[in-house]
Amino acid sequence: MFLTAGNDVFGFLEFGIYLVFGFWSLVFSLSVVARVTLEIALRKEFDYAIPPDLAPRIDVGTRVKVPFGPRQVNGVVTEVLEESTHTNLRPIAKIIGASSLVTPQVLKLARWIADYYCCAPEIALKSVLPDAVRKEDAHFKERLFVRVNPVRGAPPKLTKRQQDILNVIEEWRELPLQRLLTLTGATPVTIRKLEDKGLVAIAPQVDERDPYANEQILPTEPIVLNTEQATTLQRIKLAMARPQSAEARTFLLHGVTGSGKTEIYLQAIAHTLEQGKGAIVLVPEISLTPQTVERFKARFSSGPLRTLVAVLHSHLSAGERHDEWHKIRQGRARIVIGARSAIFAPVDPLGLIIVDEEHEHSYKQEESPRYHARDVAVVRGQMEGAVVVLGSATPSLESYHNAKRGKYELLELTTRVDDQKMPIVRVIDMRAEGRKQKGIPIFSNQLKEAITQRLERREQTILFLNRRGYSTSLQCPQCGYVAQCPNCSVSLTFHRRAAKLLCHICGHSANAPSVCPESKCRNAAIRYSGLGTEKVEDTLAKLFPHARITRMDSDTLKRKDDYRRILGDFRAGKIDVLVGTQMIAKGLHFPNVTLVGIIYADLSLHMPDFRAGERTFQLLTQVAGRAGRGDVEGEVFVQAFTPFHPAIQYARRHDFVGFYDQEIEFREQLKYPPLARIALLTLRGRNEDKVRLSAEHVRTELEKLLPERAPGILPGQAPRQMSDAPVRQTTEIRQDAGGTFIIAGPAPAPLARAETFYRYQIMLRARAMTKLSRAIAQMQATLALPDDVLMAVDIDPVNLA
Ligand SMILES: [Zn+2]
Ligand SMILES: [Zn+2]
Repeated sequence: MFLTAGNDVFGFLEFGIYLVFGFWSLVFSLSVVARVTLEIALRKEFDYAIPPDLAPRIDVGTRVKVPFGPRQVNGVVTEVLEESTHTNLRPIAKIIGASSLVTPQVLKLARWIADYYCCAPEIALKSVLPDAVRKEDAHFKERLFVRVNPVRGAPPKLTKRQQDILNVIEEWRELPLQRLLTLTGATPVTIRKLEDKGLVAIAPQVDERDPYANEQILPTEPIVLNTEQATTLQRIKLAMARPQSAEARTFLLHGVTGSGKTEIYLQAIAHTLEQGKGAIVLVPEISLTPQTVERFKARFSSGPLRTLVAVLHSHLSAGERHDEWHKIRQGRARIVIGARSAIFAPVDPLGLIIVDEEHEHSYKQEESPRYHARDVAVVRGQMEGAVVVLGSATPSLESYHNAKRGKYELLELTTRVDDQKMPIVRVIDMRAEGRKQKGIPIFSNQLKEAITQRLERREQTILFLNRRGYSTSLQCPQCGYVAQCPNCSVSLTFHRRAAKLLCHICGHSANAPSVCPESKCRNAAIRYSGLGTEKVEDTLAKLFPHARITRMDSDTLKRKDDYRRILGDFRAGKIDVLVGTQMIAKGLHFPNVTLVGIIYADLSLHMPDFRAGERTFQLLTQVAGRAGRGDVEGEVFVQAFTPFHPAIQYARRHDFVGFYDQEIEFREQLKYPPLARIALLTLRGRNEDKVRLSAEHVRTELEKLLPERAPGILPGQAPRQMSDAPVRQTTEIRQDAGGTFIIAGPAPAPLARAETFYRYQIMLRARAMTKLSRAIAQMQATLALPDDVLMAVDIDPVNLA
């Protein structure tokens, strides 16, 4: 009580003082300084004076033009201050655009990204504000529209031709001029004459680009949930009702394939809308199919919760992106569905973020800023008090670990909807098949038999191999020549249709030789070995000449609508067997698919990556999940050369938890995520010596910022087989009260050369990232590298190549 009264008295006194002295200080403290992030690479923000006439319109997020040296550059206001430590501030020249395009919350998120991922603020800003919206000349497209004018008095006399054209306009009431000209074959002059007579008006009008304009969407109603689904939804709703500061508001929704996660998403979104808030739904780019988008649009296309659904992905034109963005900013679209970058959509207020297939690696951006959209989603959720739902049938070890230690709340769906059974998975030992069939076969006898059965029963089959092309390498048995990419340290893949050797890293293409290219050899018996989807398709066609076979990989998808067309044909039953890469692994729901064949399941096990087992488990589970989505039970054949590998065996039993338990033990022993965090520094340049020496220098500089060397023993093994290049092979532990740090390298990267650049890596590991990223940022600030050596910092990398 006393405290309150005291405060009141003080408040009163303060008010008196304000009356006397306050007026002038108020004038001066009227937001006079703006801190601005410039769109040029400076790793720094600058202060500018706000001219009084611009003051009312300047706020956090406002885009401005400011003087910088002799020129003017664009920037975004990130903070409005009462004073600056600098003197003689130059004034802001002008404001760009009518309104701030980024919310202060998203701006705060950009700052977090810059700090956490060790990147320059202007780079972080560019990712939260796409080019299409940031550019000074970005605007809505305007087109001339023709509209009927109500005529007063007697109608003017018209020629037959004029009357015909007028009839068309009347039928449409309003239409783009260009369209009218096409429809009627008239010239603009003719239309102008109608305008002169006062019958029509021609005026520019905003023509919003809608990438889904030509689609008919039938509204859908919420589906009745089963008990598991209903409980899950209830828990999400309860979290939404909790005050913002309350405990966990991030959920991990672990639901087996076909367990009806999407319906829960839809009903959770409806609940968010009822509360007057919006939602962001992230899906991997590859799953952002028209089918997916339609499901969301259909639910919210009518009824009291009617709202536009904005779609954001990388294939939008700049104009489409601009328009979608504005629909969101203006609050007309309160649901956003999109790939990675949609996490920055200016939804305000934000009530719910859904990250579907949260384990997907495509959520990680592979260029600066190297953010992980799932992790950014969790941070944004915390900042804006939104509930976050991470969904997957095969959660990442990181997320499941977070759920187990209580950082996230775990929700589980253990059964498929409509009592569908999980498919039966059979693992086939290809070593035994190889002995039976002489040589390494593509199809085991069992798989061949199963395909035959499906063809007879008019059911459909999906065959999966995560490698495109025909053969993976070209070798000369006589002289040992191997066709290598001249720019990268990988061998070239043979593409038979195109009769080319292609590099899957840089795209280098060469004609496939018919004899060994070595001038002294010229052996005609060169050998193609290894296997890709093209060879699977060809072999299949020979085995089943009457089957209708289609291949789907990035080689067969040349045009924008190829993907949609092939899936449409498959759905319509015009295809018996669909062969493809990971493109066919996700989210597709085809009731007539009763057989899935995985050609070489262990392909992804042999990657030089500690996540190889996890990736294999995820991929097998996801692909297997495509089978048996209708009334007939599904069957899956997994062909493997290491059939007893845990990743394969746990996938066979649909046992995620079992897989997690054994995998987490391995990660603990070797100090890998989720039990440690990784920062990966990759240096690249065309001169190998320079790159290596620069990497050595980086390590020396980093060592100064890390604690003293610890006398302990190295945990487990070195992160990977180091090459025999002349570099220090030192994995070292540093330890202090703040934790343990492990530093390894520099060593040549697994992909030692790519696109003519030599690559060296240093890997750092620590229990927590904060200290590590601070050390890296500090090192970066003073680091001087040669001009032709570049360094990429990747925090929490998913790609270690
Ligand atoms: Zn040769
Ligand atoms: Zn290459």
